[in-house]
Amino acid sequence: MLCYIFAEAAGKEVPSLEGLSEDKIYVSDKNVRTSDFLQYDVFNSYHTETELMRYIKRLERKDISLAHSMISLGSCTMKLNAASELFALSNPNFCNIHPYAPDDQVEGYLEMLDNLGDYLAKITGFDATSLQPNSGASGEYTGLRTIRTYLESIGQGHRDIVILPASAHGTNPASAVQCGYKCVIIKTDERGNVDWDDFMAQTEAHKDQIAAMMITYPSTHGIFETNIVDLCQRIHDCGGQVYMDGANMNAQVGYTNPGFIGADVCHLNLHKTFAIPHGGGGPGVGPICVAKHLTPFLPKHVIRFEDDLNQVSAAPYGSAGVAIITYSYIRLLGFEGLRQATAMAILNANYMAARFKDTYGILYTGPQGE
Ligand SMILES: *Cc1c(COP(=O)(O)O)cnc(C)c1O
Repeated sequence: MLCYIFAEAAGKEVPSLEGLSEDKIYVSDKNVRTSDFLQYDVFNSYHTETELMRYIKRLERKDISLAHSMISLGSCTMKLNAASELFALSNPNFCNIHPYAPDDQVEGYLEMLDNLGDYLAKITGFDATSLQPNSGASGEYTGLRTIRTYLESIGQGHRDIVILPASAHGTNPASAVQCGYKCVIIKTDERGNVDWDDFMAQTEAHKDQIAAMMITYPSTHGIFETNIVDLCQRIHDCGGQVYMDGANMNAQVGYTNPGFIGADVCHLNLHKTFAIPHGGGGPGVGPICVAKHLTPFLPKHVIRFEDDLNQVSAAPYGSAGVAIITYSYIRLLGFEGLRQATAMAILNANYMAARFKDTYGILYTGPQGE
């Protein structure tokens, strides 16, 4: 059957298959499997639909979700998961849209995505947003590719080093390497902050090779590093770009932002700061927001590959289906509400730290003990 389909598509005659044994037709000798396969119990234990359904349900029961408990998953936990934010998800106008529906059938949806991109750009102090990346890690990779294309466009494509503090989230160096960069790790000082002397020494040593610094603010230790503006300025003086990891953005929204601090690009984790519920895996949305000079290099989306500028997802707006949750969250809270959420997040984090202090101890604190 397959032969006929391909023959038809190629406009050729189907060769005679008579006299060929089955594995000669489909697989050449060297590709014929000789080992056993699918030997594990699970592949041979459930022989009816009902048995299989019960097995899958048993697995589902082992999963921990917000319906059972807090999901103790770092920054992913520190957000409001209100049912009202999810309301639009069950509206067929939002949930029944095909990823490749023609634009004129989804004008409202596109308008919502456009507005969402604008809000996020405003919140981060940047010029434009790409909703294409499907996770924070994917956003990092996209942001670095955007930086790389920009650097190439100004004749600085030879820059191949990404500066990272030792406290960086593991995805930072992974994204840098994936993007073809070498990592230079900066020590942290006794307070857990970027060690200024080491930072100056390393940036001096690699001055002409620095493509970017990746920095999380507030840091993974939960500290607002007081010299963040100087760190960004120094990288710019060296000719590099600043990638701010925005996973902890719920401690910034409405009070400060990466654009103000001097970064050039950041990702947001909509499944952390912006209310998309998750835990134990997706769905994630890791949009990136960029300063004006990087806007032309944001991912484009094409179905064929003539011009795949920095495309990172098969769908034009990544996990578009859940973007409505963040949109609802922002519209329901408004600017003052978003600011208040930030204040509460910081207060709650400090409350937890105070309650845990005697039992677990506190590894690092900021200069004022916060
Ligand atoms: C969660 C997190 C990431 C990665 O985001 P994912 O959406 O999980 O890929 C990157 N950096 C920091 C600091 C994070 O907390």
